[in-house]
Amino acid sequence: MEEEIVRRLKAHNLRNTSIRKNVLELFIQSEGRALSNQDLEEQLDNPDRITLYRTLKAFEDKGLIHLAVDRGGISKYALCSDDCDTHAHHDGHAHFHCQACGKTICLEGEIIIKAKPPTGYVVDQEKLVLEGTCADCAA
Ligand SMILES: [Zn+2]
Ligand SMILES: [Zn+2]
Ligand SMILES: [Zn+2]
Repeated sequence: MEEEIVRRLKAHNLRNTSIRKNVLELFIQSEGRALSNQDLEEQLDNPDRITLYRTLKAFEDKGLIHLAVDRGGISKYALCSDDCDTHAHHDGHAHFHCQACGKTICLEGEIIIKAKPPTGYVVDQEKLVLEGTCADCAA
């Protein structure tokens, strides 16, 4: 695990500080599940909030994590695929958000959006969040 973490940080041009290692470890352990600031704070031992915020920002900038959902002032991030790098994200996938437990996961498969914005409107990114109930909550 330690080796994998150091490898990933290095591949994305990030120095390995202990908070970066801890945060990345949590993302790797959560396997495709998105984590909010609060989720991370709970799992890390009383981290400095500003450092945590900067860590997430740096990870997003360098292509390690991507924004999965952003609602009600809560941003949740998920681990990127290996294709993402410092210059560009390639996370053109949808996310599933469970309305019962709040779990968010990355979905496989391409998003095909047929909606057409009016002439002159510029689309920066396509985001799709499917909402419903996860298997655990539906059971
Ligand atoms: Zn990405
Ligand atoms: Zn659920
Ligand atoms: Zn995702």
